[in-house]
Amino acid sequence: RTTIPERMRASELLAQDSLTVGDRPVPVPAADEVLIRVASVGVCGSDTHYFTHGRIGPFVVEQPLVLGHEASGVIVAVGEGVDAARVGSRVSIEPQRACRVCEQCKKGAYNLCPEMQFFATPPIDGAFAEYVTIQSDYAHDIPDSVSAHAAALMEPLSVGIWACQKAGVTAGSRVLIAGAGPIGLVTAQVARAFGATEIIITDISEERLAVAAQHGATRALHASESVEEMTVDAFIDASGAGPAIRAGIPAVKPAGRIVLVGLGADELTLPVNLLQNRELWLTGVFRYANTWPLAIELVAAGRVNLDALVTHTFGLDDVENALMAGRIPGALKAIVEPWR
Ligand code: NAD
Ligand code: ZN
Repeated sequence: RTTIPERMRASELLAQDSLTVGDRPVPVPAADEVLIRVASVGVCGSDTHYFTHGRIGPFVVEQPLVLGHEASGVIVAVGEGVDAARVGSRVSIEPQRACRVCEQCKKGAYNLCPEMQFFATPPIDGAFAEYVTIQSDYAHDIPDSVSAHAAALMEPLSVGIWACQKAGVTAGSRVLIAGAGPIGLVTAQVARAFGATEIIITDISEERLAVAAQHGATRALHASESVEEMTVDAFIDASGAGPAIRAGIPAVKPAGRIVLVGLGADELTLPVNLLQNRELWLTGVFRYANTWPLAIELVAAGRVNLDALVTHTFGLDDVENALMAGRIPGALKAIVEPWR
């Protein structure tokens, strides 16, 4: 650790609408952890929500919180139980720490671990900082051909992979996706990579629909158009909009699947009779598990293009602008580079 400083800069959310760049000790990796010099961190809607509201549901910002959970970097030190040969590796961070011993963890469904500690979810700090630590097996090596930005965006890509897996997307699938934000667009890219032959995406923003074809969509439709006659194998909601969910369900073929990714429509009236008559499967998704190896393969093989999502980059002093970049026309994904 001789070349690693004692102190570092980190962007701290003090309370709603209040950000500062704080001075903190560089974290020391525990025995099973690695220390990562952070390269790129994507801004997610949840980061923006913590900034503008100071909370997400029961998670309230009560002490300075470092935001950011879509991160990449380089391993600069390892804990005593980790192979020192990992120092120097470029990695994508899977930003979660599960207990490893509960029923869900043992089944491999570690995203459902009740003890989950997730980056940038109070009181767990995230990655808008010069350095972070993570358990060694959650720091995934990336090939040289994958950019630091793309390595950071393995996180939202994982959401798309998990959604397509839950939706059973496969060769020849017809898929309807509501919402052409970063999540809807990566989901479309994954559906294409999985072999879907029809990928219909809807949004209320013409600007977002305009880029959908570059991300694999075979049709981009304004949400005001009817999708009812689409007869798709799977419908994935990446909008969180109640009307979009309600409109998508009748488009699904008998025995097809509905996967709810978007957050926001907490209570909804469902066409129960339709779900019964067609024996539709309906599930929510909570992040992802075991998706990083596939995410990295898809990007390395050129089947998914994450760099195409990046529209803006900012430094650590500019995190507020990064969090509000979603308001800029044409913005898709803003990235924070702590060392910029
Ligand atoms: P985003 O806000 O950038 O994208 C949502 C898109 O939906 C926007 O482009 C918006 O115009 C569009 N939209 C709004 N109303 C619509 C309608 N009626 N029909 C069709 N489209 C409509 O957000 P994002 O970053 O792409 O994330 C998408 C959603 O996924 C968010 O709700 C986010 O919180 C959620 N999310 C869930 C998980 C999970 O684990 N379940 C993980 C990550 C993100
Ligand atoms: Zn667990």
